[in-house]
Formats: sequence, structure tokens, C-alpha cells
Amino acid sequence: MKKGKICVSVCAETAEETLRQIRGAEAFADVIEVRVDCVRSDDPVKLATEIYSDKPILITFRPSSQGGQGPSELSIRQEFWNTLAAGNFAAKEIWFDHEYDLTGIPRAQNTLSIRSFHDFRGVPENLDEIFSRLSANDEIAKIAVQTDDITDAIPVWKLLAKAKAENKPLIPIAMGDGGKWTRILGPAFGSFMTFAALESGSETAPGQITASDMIDVFRVKELNENVDIYGIIAGDTSYSSSPFMHNAAFKAEKMNAVFLPLQVRDLGDFIGRMVKPETREIELAFRGFSVTNPHKQAIIEYLDFIDETAEKIGAVNTVRVEKGKLYGYNTDAYGFMAPLKVLFGDLSGANVAVAGAGGAARACIYALQQEGANVALLVRNVRKAQSLADEFNVRIEPLTLGQSPMATSFDILVNATPLGTKGALQNQTIALSDQLGATKLVYDLIYNPSETRLIHEARSADIETLGGMEMLIAQGVKQFEIWTGKNAPGDSMAAAVRKRLQL
Ligand code: NAP
Repeated sequence: MKKGKICVSVCAETAEETLRQIRGAEAFADVIEVRVDCVRSDDPVKLATEIYSDKPILITFRPSSQGGQGPSELSIRQEFWNTLAAGNFAAKEIWFDHEYDLTGIPRAQNTLSIRSFHDFRGVPENLDEIFSRLSANDEIAKIAVQTDDITDAIPVWKLLAKAKAENKPLIPIAMGDGGKWTRILGPAFGSFMTFAALESGSETAPGQITASDMIDVFRVKELNENVDIYGIIAGDTSYSSSPFMHNAAFKAEKMNAVFLPLQVRDLGDFIGRMVKPETREIELAFRGFSVTNPHKQAIIEYLDFIDETAEKIGAVNTVRVEKGKLYGYNTDAYGFMAPLKVLFGDLSGANVAVAGAGGAARACIYALQQEGANVALLVRNVRKAQSLADEFNVRIEPLTLGQSPMATSFDILVNATPLGTKGALQNQTIALSDQLGATKLVYDLIYNPSETRLIHEARSADIETLGGMEMLIAQGVKQFEIWTGKNAPGDSMAAAVRKRLQL
């Protein structure tokens, strides 16, 4: 099995903190990049020469013009590197990262040299030419470009084939959330190495993943070119727990499979250029997707097959890819209902209010109607939600957001809006305790935080509650089964999510 190298990047203002970070990085890293341009109060040359580690130390002195914190003046940078080239190093093995515009730097004895190019604004058109220039003198080419949408990363990824054909080492990186997949898959597909952060919050470039997640969650060192690839298609992948849940399942089942965050803005572009065998520009063995906002309905037009439940719901959260064909399913309805039935029992004739009119609400309404419940929709925009209400033949009421008592009392109140989610909406709730009247159960689909404001309001009114975690796990278990045909290791999946959310 191919072993990819992981380079942990450290960047600190003092020599003391740099050394502390190096000691921390040694547990995960094959190589440690020391960004001496970050050092403010100590001499970067002294630091570079005095660092000791058993791991190879990569010295980087990145100018601000290349996204670093060091001086941009060429003469200052040249002087720094000239001094270093003549230096004696304490580290066992020393590597240098020279930016593309540095010329005339003597090659120090016994060092490995990376020649790097960074573009934090986007992806330049002339990547092939840049690669040729960087690799002209038997140095390792590193090309890092900024991406937003996942397909922005295609050109830099394509360079791997060129590098392989020319037998030249390359580190291609698509920075930003749109390019996280290049960081994870790079080493398995021939990248010389991938860069990782020491810990969350200490990332030295956009989209960097922590070294512990690279190793323990994404299993970067175990992946190879035959890996089955799954991922979550989302407009914003940064909040998703799905990579932790599904990678834990693959790990528990010892599968050669990985689950990636796939930040997709233009869905048609992604499906055409990266998934469909007839049109795709790069060969990645996608086997399945979780689908979330804002693509749950839009994905339908790209499917070759949609199962009956998903079609009736009008939203797809799961795609299986087989022989280039896309099969769509909805596991939200199952995931929503499974824990509800355990807690509430028979739902026939129950009066249920569902707040929200998005993809999740659709799955809830469908599942509730299948069980014979009477459903009403609570929405902030009645006119906008009218077609959904008509489609499912449910009545609709305005959502009053805690300002006045709800018009009707319900047996069950479901929150399928983002109100209460960690972040800006965390303190918001669709209802206060004194509005809950005779409600028997409050079900909040939000799982982060586990106790939302709504759950708190319900508990203080002595009403039974159900959070979104059970649904998350249940719908994920079903996804795993659809993709693999195997029973899912539900306990491992639940443990991974709880660990991530620190529950
Ligand atoms: P969505 O398609 O974006 O729909 C969100 C709905 O909430 C829309 O009807 C929207 O109203 C409404 N809404 C948004 N902000 C609101 C506000 N400030 N006040 C009142 N209503 C508001 O999202 P979704 O996919 O249905 O997901 C909804 C929630 O369920 C999310 O928080 C998601 O995390 C959660 N969820 C959890 C699970 C799980 O497994 N636990 C699964 C799926 C979803 P407009 O139409 O007027 O914009």
C-alpha cells in the first residue's frame, strides 16, 4: 500500500513557540515545515539553523507577495537564503522551500529543494508553463492555487498526470474548501506530499486540515489509487459531520474507501466534469454521495434513476454511483421517522406541526403522512410555501417566532428550520416554553448543539424532546447500506459524530 507523506506546517511568532509546535508536530508528521517568516521576535536564520528534530525540517521564508509574512524584497530574501545555504544545521535532515521568483541561490549540500508557486486569488491559466518552470532544475514543484468551487481544482489536479509522465515530483494543492479533496487524495495519487495543520485554528493556508484528522479520519497514509470515493456534496461543507461519520464506518469495516467534503457551487459543472464518465476530465472513482443544501432538489435532474420514496418527497440526500450511472434515494424520511417511532409509538391520527418548508421538511411531511399523522406546516413565508402545502395537501400557518402563542396546539412540534443551529442562529427558537401548550413531544432536527434553545424551552415546560443526532445517525446508516450493501457499523458512526461534536 502506498504511503503518502504528511508535512505539518508550523508558524509561530517566537522561536520558543515554534519549538513547542515542532515537538507537537513530531507525533504526526513525516516532514515539518517551519515557516520562519512567521517569527517576529527572534532571528529567522538562527532559528532555522538551530532547530533540531528527527523528522526532516522544511524551511520556508514566504514573502507577503506569496501569502506569507516575510519581506517581499527580493534582495532581503536572497540574502536570507544565501546565508542559510552556507549554514550548519542542527536538524538531521533539512529541506528548503524556494519561491518561484528566487534566482541565483546556491544549492546547499545535502538538502532537498522545493520550488513553490502560490496564488491566493485563483487559478492562473498557465499552470503547465508554471510547472515546467518550477521543475526545470530537478527540484520538487509545489503549486498551490485558491479555489472556491470544487471544479476550480481540476487544472491543478491534472498536473499530476503530467508530472507522472515526465517522472517529476509535484505537490499540487487546491487551497480553500473547494480543494480539500486534493489535500486528502494527493499522496495516494502521486503527490510528493500533502500539507496539514498542527491543530484546528493553526492552519497556515486556506482549507488545510489538521494532521490528526488527515491520519485518523481520512486515513491519508492508507489510501491508494484504487480507493472508492464518497463525499458530501454541499454548498458549504465546513459544518458537516458526515465526513467523520462515514469515514468512521469505512475504517471500522476496513474498507479501501474515503468520504470527502465536496464543496460544490455549480452542480452541473461538478457532475459533468468530475463524475459522469462520458464527460469527466479527471478519473476519480466516485461511488456515492450524501447531498445537502442547496442541492437536494437540484440533483434530481442529473440522476439516471430515482427511487420511489425520493421521487414522492421531491428531494434526494443520497446518490449511489454504479458503472457511471447515478441512482438517487432519500434516507432523511427513514432517519427522521426511526427514532420518532421509538419514542412516540403509533403516529396515526397524531397532530404534528413541521416548522420549515425546505428539503428536510419535505422528508418529514412524507414520513409523517406515511404513518397516518395529520401534518400542518409552520412557515415564515406562507406564499412561498403554498405550493409545498398543496403538493402534500397539508394546511399551512404562519410561524410566529416566539412573539405570540401558536395558533393551534399540536401533539408533536418538529423544527426543520435552521433556527437554533450553532453560530449566529444559536439563540433563536421557533417557540418559547409558554407557547408549547399541550405539545407532547418536541423534535428538533438540529444536532449541533445537541441541546438547542428549542429543546431547552421544551424541557423547561416538561415536554419530552428528541434532538437531531438520532436522525443524523439513522439516515447515515441507511446511506452506508445503500452504497455498500453491508450492515453499517452504527455504533462507530455515532461515536465518531459525538466525539467530533464533543458530546
Ligand atoms: P433548507 O432546505 O434550507 O430549508 C430551511 C427552511 O427553514 C426553509 O423553509 C426556510 O424558509 C426556513 N427558515 C430558514 N431560516 C429561517 C428563519 N430565520 N425563520 C424561519 N424559517 C426559516 O434546509 P433543510 O435541508 O430543510 O434543513 C433544515 C434544518 O434541518 C437544518 O438546520 C438542517 O441542519 C436540519 N437537518 C438535520 C438533519 C439530521 O439528520 N438531523 C437532516 C436534514 C436537515 P424559507 O423557505 O422562507 O427560506
